[in-house]
Amino acid sequence: MNPFPFSDDNKRYHTLAYHNKHTYGGRVYKATLDAHFRCPNLESGGCIYCKDTIDPRTLEEQWQAECERIRAKDAAAKICAYFGVHTNTFCSPEKLLELLETAKNWGAFSVSIATRADCLNEEKARILEEFPKPLTVELGLQSVHDKTAELINRGHTFADFLKGYNLLKEHGIRICVHIINGLPNESREMMLETAGTLAKLNPDGVKIHSLHVLRGTKLFEMYKNGDYAPLTRGEYIDITARQLELLPPETVIERVTGDGDKTLLAAPLWSKDKIAVLGGLDKRLADLNTYQGKSFKEK
Ligand code: SF4
Repeated sequence: MNPFPFSDDNKRYHTLAYHNKHTYGGRVYKATLDAHFRCPNLESGGCIYCKDTIDPRTLEEQWQAECERIRAKDAAAKICAYFGVHTNTFCSPEKLLELLETAKNWGAFSVSIATRADCLNEEKARILEEFPKPLTVELGLQSVHDKTAELINRGHTFADFLKGYNLLKEHGIRICVHIINGLPNESREMMLETAGTLAKLNPDGVKIHSLHVLRGTKLFEMYKNGDYAPLTRGEYIDITARQLELLPPETVIERVTGDGDKTLLAAPLWSKDKIAVLGGLDKRLADLNTYQGKSFKEK
């Protein structure tokens, strides 16, 4: 018997599918969109793993194409407008409001805004708070370790992240935090510390993925020169299982595998096989007889 309460099947963690089914009565599909807002960190060279690309299509064209793709699978699909490329609050408050209104006018079921914690302020938080729900802000943290943040040229510290995170919390906004396993020079203990520290913040959602080495990035140069080695699939699965143990059971695990550009992916190639990663994680959790939140400590 599965000991994890937030599951209808063999999953020992709180999946997004479970959350959507029990909150909205079924699946919510994501239409990934590039609002062309860019990112302030690119002006300082960008994160070492970032592959800067721009979708040449207009936002409207992207939305129509995504809706067509999704509706071919499910004609009655609920669709989330996911502004997931670059930093989607890197704009004036007026522009942010305009973007949200655009999604509302399309009839999007929900909105997700991916951004950096250092690109928020009171005015933008108020706009996000007042916008009709469901709305999620996705914040990149990647690691709680400042020396890693410096090494990957993240452009902000953990304290900066906390400022933005707490501002959104004060405004009652749903937050999903992104973390990456396998960052350069990070030990297993450091990755577990990231999950343990994040757990104390009680995030609404978390996305976990392995670091992807994309051709054309600074990380690719490090990888070619032998200065960086990615995690093996076994290591990634084991670390992720242990991170899930630390996270609160209520936190929705919105992703445990990456969705990077497969044509540019140099390593780890095992990450292309999502089914093997997901199956391996289920097996590891069952073998360890563990589940999300088993080691969660409130404070
Ligand atoms: S914050 Fe995101 S978009 Fe900006 S440089 Fe880093 S990875 Fe690229």
